[in-house]
Amino acid sequence: MRRLVDRLLAAGGVQAGRLRTCGVDRGADVSLDDLPRLPFVTKQDFWDHYPFGMRSAPAEDVVCVHGSSGTKGRPTLVAYTARDVDVWAQVMARALGGAGVSRRSFVHCAYGYGLFTGGLGVHHGATRLGATVLPVSSGATDRQLRLLLDLRPNVLCCTPSYAVYLGEAFASTGITAEQLSLRVGLFGAEPWTEEIRVGIEGLLGLRALNIYGLTEVIGPGVACESLDSEGLLNVAEDHFFPEVVGPDGRPVPDGEPGELVFTTLTKTGTPLLRYRTGDVAALSGPVPGSARTLRRMTRVLGRTDDMLIIRGVNVFPSEIEAVLLADPRVAPHYLVVEDRRDRSRPELRIAVEPRDPLGDTGSLERDLTAALLARLGIRCLVRVLPPDHVPRAVTGKAQRLVRWEHGVVPLPGLE
Ligand code: ADP
Repeated sequence: MRRLVDRLLAAGGVQAGRLRTCGVDRGADVSLDDLPRLPFVTKQDFWDHYPFGMRSAPAEDVVCVHGSSGTKGRPTLVAYTARDVDVWAQVMARALGGAGVSRRSFVHCAYGYGLFTGGLGVHHGATRLGATVLPVSSGATDRQLRLLLDLRPNVLCCTPSYAVYLGEAFASTGITAEQLSLRVGLFGAEPWTEEIRVGIEGLLGLRALNIYGLTEVIGPGVACESLDSEGLLNVAEDHFFPEVVGPDGRPVPDGEPGELVFTTLTKTGTPLLRYRTGDVAALSGPVPGSARTLRRMTRVLGRTDDMLIIRGVNVFPSEIEAVLLADPRVAPHYLVVEDRRDRSRPELRIAVEPRDPLGDTGSLERDLTAALLARLGIRCLVRVLPPDHVPRAVTGKAQRLVRWEHGVVPLPGLE
């Protein structure tokens, strides 16, 4: 961390200015215990200093640039040095290794390749490990199905919503999970719940593990579940030192959810001291007695900018997902519409699809309304729509939350 502080000070950018304001003039002035008094950086800093104002390395040392998807607002651009790509390959190889992937494995990588970090991140890690990787990228589902059948890969990497989509596409052609060769999948880049995990494991006959990351920090591989991490994600904390802070920016104890903050200890292209991710999770120690000594984090419970405040009640979309998909009659496709046309009385309108198109939709709507009221304390308007009415994400991230402030209803059937 001292070397990181020295690098930031030498680069003389925004972070250097803030460090000097805090009285830090050299790395030797600080220790990890001082972190809570050091300044944060945010996505806004990336936007304010677009495109490369957060870069610390000279331009000639930059070997590639990636961009965030821009889920909330404008994308950000991040410059990587060769050393950063090496760190990325290392943490991704580690994530894949923890999932049981080896030189003998065949990885079907259906994350998008390009500016988005998903595809190339997995790719770097798989090649570092010596596995075979098929850079199929996202989309063109028919070709994906063909290659999954012909090449018999044992590892699948893609977004969890696309994993569901692929699994359903196989099921609709009569191909069962037993006929597939997949053993394990690393799914991430978007929020998902235990209920979706159960669905994916059933559809594809594999062990579904959660992988987390973000472009500003490096991309996928910041944290990842391993076969033995007991449902939490091992944080690559030797490279990305994690903290969790409350709304006031003060650290909260392990086990308590708050906003994840990462310090990139080893990065040189765009190193960050205390980057506020906007992602909400809790930290925990390693599995007691395990050979793995890294701290772990829970799955991402939501994003600070995704939290809905409905008539005074705070709700994360992931809580809604958990209630909906706990009902076996509901297919893993839904859309939450936050109806803010009347700002004084926001409402949630939720579209779901039934597993059985011939089932009793009236009783399903009533039961889901009651379950949401019991769990969240708010009354939502639930509509069961015919199959294939909720939009799917074939490339990129699933959009499961839409704000409706004016104009026509975002999804017909929810008016
Ligand atoms: P953004 O989507 O914010 O524009 P990125 O494409 O870099 O930028 O994606 C990073 C974001 O994706 C994270 O900050 C987080 O909100 C989300 N994300 C990534 N992996 C996961 C995961 N496993 N679970 C939940 N959310 C995730």
